[in-house]
Amino acid sequence: MKVKIDADLCTACELCTSQVPEVFEMGDDVAEVITPDVPAEFTDAVSEAARDCPVEAIIVS
Ligand code: SF4
Repeated sequence: MKVKIDADLCTACELCTSQVPEVFEMGDDVAEVITPDVPAEFTDAVSEAARDCPVEAIIVS
């Protein structure tokens, strides 16, 4: 699984960074991805974060 964040959509609500701090961190203005290639143990959590993001800024593939 790969993950990225659409910086134009992210509102910096910090939901994803609190849900999966191993993968997401806060940058200066928006959340950023630490590990674009998601480790297997975090794929379920990243999928959930993508579903929960209020502005659908988390893109998984
Ligand atoms: S949950 Fe969505 S809007 Fe909130 S910080 Fe993460 S990417 Fe940004």
